Amino acid sequence: MSLLRRTKIVVTLGPSLDDPDVLKRVIAEGADVFRANFSHGTHETHEQRITMVRELAKQAQKIVAILVDLQGPKIRIARFKNKKIQLQEGQPFVLDTTLGEDEGTEHAVSLDYKHLPHDVSVGDTLLLDDGRIVMRVEQTEADRINCRVMVSGELSNNKGINRLGGGLSAEALTDKDRADILVAARLKADYIAVSFPRHADDIKEARTLLKAAGCSAGIIAKIERTEAVMHIEEIIRVSDAIMVARGDLGVELGDAELPGVQKQIIHQARSLNKPVITATQMLETMTYNTIPTRAEVSDVANAVLDGTDAVMLSQETAVGKYPDKAVAAMNRICLSAEKNPSAKISRHRLEVHFKYVDEAIAMATMYTANHLDIKAIITLTESGTTPLWMSRIKSSIPIYGLSRHAATQRRMALYRGVYPIPFDATHLDRRLLNQAAVAELQQRGILMEGDLVIITKGDLIGVHGKTNSMKIYTVSRTAPSRKEDASAQPDAS
Ligand code: PGA
Ligand code: MN
Repeated sequence: MSLLRRTKIVVTLGPSLDDPDVLKRVIAEGADVFRANFSHGTHETHEQRITMVRELAKQAQKIVAILVDLQGPKIRIARFKNKKIQLQEGQPFVLDTTLGEDEGTEHAVSLDYKHLPHDVSVGDTLLLDDGRIVMRVEQTEADRINCRVMVSGELSNNKGINRLGGGLSAEALTDKDRADILVAARLKADYIAVSFPRHADDIKEARTLLKAAGCSAGIIAKIERTEAVMHIEEIIRVSDAIMVARGDLGVELGDAELPGVQKQIIHQARSLNKPVITATQMLETMTYNTIPTRAEVSDVANAVLDGTDAVMLSQETAVGKYPDKAVAAMNRICLSAEKNPSAKISRHRLEVHFKYVDEAIAMATMYTANHLDIKAIITLTESGTTPLWMSRIKSSIPIYGLSRHAATQRRMALYRGVYPIPFDATHLDRRLLNQAAVAELQQRGILMEGDLVIITKGDLIGVHGKTNSMKIYTVSRTAPSRKEDASAQPDAS
């Protein structure tokens, strides 16, 4: 049991995982959430991949969540006549919205976002291809931007453009995103990631669209714009989870600002009771290599120590040569980092006034578990809220989220230190509930006679938001089989 990893692993789907044997290994190595990146590929491909993940996870008896990542308004250049050009330092270059989409040359290229000339001013720094190419704005006209190349290199079709400091006005949800939301709803995604939100209203709009599509997926706000960092608290409050999207965020803020901002976002998300994913370039060199660099190992470990719920693999698993090795590396790095005392010790929100009864139970449970020799926490949950609260408190005690709802089980797959287990309490005699829950874990080999556990539940089984009790329970004898349950001695809870 000491080898249970608390930090969750998000794996991006792509051609490298299209071989079922590879995908099986990635599931076996510990992938918790699979991300379909809607910036690439067709709906058919995404659907096929998601179907295969669900089938293979079921075979392996693993509970995994599906995350649909919307493309959002990433601003891109159009295409060149010859696919790519070579830029020289100091040369002029024009971003020209009047040019044909495939008519780019050494001197100019078109843009997909026709409003960009109105968003930039003389002196602005534009970063192309994740900052590999740098241009300064020298003059703007109604439909073109005249630039000077400051850092040169090769520029190819459809590369992204960011402005250093942010401030571009593109709407967060594009027409493509609106169509993709309907697809995500049809595919019953567990999470949807909104790319490039600027403020809470962008997330609220996504929520309205999701509701209209009849989709109950959790919304993940990707923090990848300067404006989002400025509005971080209001964004966290209206989202179900947060992603530190370091690729674009690093370009807008400047890479050196990232580590500090990452720590701040993770801390704030946790204190506002929301899970957080740390993403992008975590094990980048494993796209081609069988082992990560020491710097990458440290980056993943530091995200774990910052308190992230999950770490994410992008191209490492989508197009990389060693997707299963990348997941295995994540697994071992997280496990080691979690041994560090600072990952286990909590200050327990001693100054905080609790708002809800179930919140108070969750906090009391964690305080007790961390100060007594508790083997496991068992939380009977409808919506997953109580285990989410629990997992905001640092601990090394596993939190088992027992739920009868498959959607809740999958949602919990993202929460640090929470392990979803299917369990239907609604048909059980209330007096036998503790025993039955403990028996479920005994049958899985998780608990043994004499172990001390904490069980939380509500008086009304099957009702959301009603957790109002915690019980400290000593595991007795071996697990009664389910048939014997009915005749077992009722416990006096
Ligand atoms: P992306 O988002 O992979 O969709 O660009 C993540 C990031 O920007 O870090
Ligand atoms: Mn991004």
